[in-house]
Formats: sequence, structure tokens, C-alpha cells
Amino acid sequence: MELPRQVLNILNKLNENGREAYVVGGCVRDFLLGKKPKDYDIATSALPLEVKRLFSKTVDTGIKHGTVTVLTQGVAIEVTTYRIDGKYTDNRRPETVEFTASLKEDLLRRDFTVNAIAYHPELGFVDYFEGMSDLKQKIIRGVGNPAKRFDEDALRMLRALRFAAVLRFEIENETKKAIFQKAELIKNISAERIRDELLKIITSGFPEILNLLAGSALLFYPMPKLHNYLENNLEEIRKALSKCQGELAHCLAAFFIKSDAKTAQTFMLELRMDKKTVNEVATLLKWVNEPAAEDMYQTRKMLSKIGHDALRSVYILKEKLSGVSLAENFKMLNTVLENNECCLLKDLAVSGNDIMEVSHLKGKQLGEALEKLLDCVHKNPAENTKEILLRKVCNEGGFMLD
Ligand code: ATP
Ligand code: MG
Repeated sequence: MELPRQVLNILNKLNENGREAYVVGGCVRDFLLGKKPKDYDIATSALPLEVKRLFSKTVDTGIKHGTVTVLTQGVAIEVTTYRIDGKYTDNRRPETVEFTASLKEDLLRRDFTVNAIAYHPELGFVDYFEGMSDLKQKIIRGVGNPAKRFDEDALRMLRALRFAAVLRFEIENETKKAIFQKAELIKNISAERIRDELLKIITSGFPEILNLLAGSALLFYPMPKLHNYLENNLEEIRKALSKCQGELAHCLAAFFIKSDAKTAQTFMLELRMDKKTVNEVATLLKWVNEPAAEDMYQTRKMLSKIGHDALRSVYILKEKLSGVSLAENFKMLNTVLENNECCLLKDLAVSGNDIMEVSHLKGKQLGEALEKLLDCVHKNPAENTKEILLRKVCNEGGFMLD
């Protein structure tokens, strides 16, 4: 396994100081699957304070749990002391953690066999739980007794579904049985942790996993309404999602395709999603079933209502879901942009003040006049000059527009 020089430097320094150090978890798994690892996590027998002493730039990421982030040559790498998780009392986190000098103990606390392989550049792979064999067979299997492991941290059940979806693996039978048996425990998990896994499931491009998500009732206990929505619309949601891999807002819009924008918004806020994404998805849901703009006038009108980025995104989503090309509609959208045509009130060649100078309009009537002028400009962008627009205002005694 080829490691970036920054990772090698950290491993070497720890080794030179008499400590063990391995890369572990996702990066080893991804490498063995022939994928480029996203990031590298290091596990070491060195205690957190030693790690801090050995490296000049560090951040105390989760020092109580043994994690120190080492900043070196432009990258940040998490170095975590081997640990044994203490007693779990609330199905989500150990009351205490105990540091250990044993790599095996550290690998034993990890969730799935495929995530419990370690690698050292000179010593090679360490694989106590047949993770490599499970990788070959494409199996997600809990380390140890899966039911007990889900008692400890109930989020692991949703993580099993996430890895199965992202990697296109099967969940091993005992592990799957334990999920059905222990699903209720997930009610003890925070919305944020559930969100992180759920979003990875939704964007995985493997909507088949939703059968298991609904069937196991994993969502029922923390969010019964969301579970019911999923269960009642399973087929349609799967179908929509199968057309939207990767892009978060589009995947979410597909997931909520059978819901109105408002209800979807409530679900997403309950999942503690950020407002920007929530609003983006709500806009997609509001517009995706509306017909696309058929001419330049309608295009400008729609642009004035939802803005350029959102309209483009709506069109892309419509294309994905319907399979019908919107090339003509995109062309019109591009033309409006290329010509820099006025679509918004703020782009109008006259302001409210300009109108007040030549008329008696104010308040609501002034607003209506501006809207009418904008509509004229949507019909004919060439009319967006101060002279033409003010002439329209002054027609018919200074109050009326044509
Ligand atoms: P990704 O590529 O999505 O980051 P990952 O395997 O790196 O996947 P992380 O959530 O970053 O997943 O966790 C890193 C490692 O820590 C995992 O590979 C696993 O060994 C261990 N781990 C993470 N969460 C848990 C958990 N809830 N219970 C047990 N071990 C866990
Ligand atoms: Mg990771």
C-alpha cells in the first residue's frame, strides 16, 4: 500500500520513538478495494500527550478519546491512541475510554471487519477478524457479537446500511438479524449522527438499500413520520433516487419527491440539516413538477422568481427524473444570461425614486407599477431604458401603465 509522505513521516517518527503506529480503518479498506483513500487515520500505542510532544503543530481534536490531529506539510492527519472502550450505558458512547498498548484491542472495538484492518509499511497488513476475506466476498460483518456491538453504539446499525450501500456489499446474516432485533435502540442516537449516515445512504446511488431501511424500521424509532413517508412511498422514492446519484440536493429532492416542499423542509430541519441545503431542496421540490418555461418571456419570469442557479438546477433535476431532454429550455436560459437581460426588479433601468419624481405613485401602487414595468421588460428586454419606462409611467396622467 502506497502511503503519502506525510503519513509515512508520522509513522516513522512514532516508530523511531519506540511506539507502534499503523494506518487503520477506511483508508486501508478503500485501498484494498482499489479505491483512492479519502483520508488516512493513524492508530498508535503512543499516548496523546506524547503525540503532542513529538509533533510541532497539533490540534486537540478529541483528546479525551485519544485523538490528536497532526498538521504537517499542508495536511491534517488524525492520530488516535489505541483504546478500549469502557462500559456503554446509553447505546451511543462509552462512559470512559482506556488507552492500551495492544493493536488487537483497538481493532476489536471497531465496528465492522472490513473497517478493522491495519497496515504498516514494513510489517504489512494486520487482519485479526478476516476483514480481507469479507472484503473479497463483499460482506459487512460486525466485529464480535453484532447484537452486543449495537447495544454499545446503536448508530452502527445505520452505518452497516451505509457501508452496504456505498460499497454495494451484503450485510452478513447474523449482523442483519441483530439490526432487526435492536433497531429500537437507535432512538438514543442524536439527529446529527443519524443525518450523517442517512445522507451517505441517500447519495450512495444504491436505492435498493431503502428496502432494508424501511424493513428494519431503523428510522421509525427516532423519526416515525419520516419512516411512514418512506414506507408508504418506497417504490417511487427508489425509482427517483436511482436516477440521481451523488449530488446532495438532487438526491434529497428525489428522496422527498412524494412529499410537498413544506413537509420535506420539516423533516430536513428535524435531521438538523443546514438551512442552505434545506432551502435548496425545498425550491427544487416546489418547481420540479411545474412545466419548464416554454418561451423567452416565461424564462425571464421564472428567473425573476427563483434565480439563475436554482432554475438551472431544477431543469437538470427534471431531465434526470423524466429522461426527457430540456436542451431547448437550457438554450433559452443561456440566451437570457448571455444577453445579460433584466429579470429582477433591481436590474430595472428605473428605481422607485425615479418613478416618484414623475408621478404621484407611492406605497403599494408604486410597487405594482414597478412589477408592471418588470413584466413589460420580461416581454421585451429592449424596453429596459429609463426613457421608455418613465414614458410608460407618465402615460395617462402619470398614474397608469399601458
Ligand atoms: P469513510 O470513508 O466514510 O470516512 P470510514 O471507515 O473512515 O469511512 P469513519 O466514520 O471515518 O469511517 O470512521 C473511521 C474508522 O473508525 C472506521 O473505519 C472504524 O474502524 C471506526 N469507527 C467509526 N465509527 C465507529 C463506531 N461507531 N463504532 C466502532 N468503530 C467505529
Ligand atoms: Mg473516515
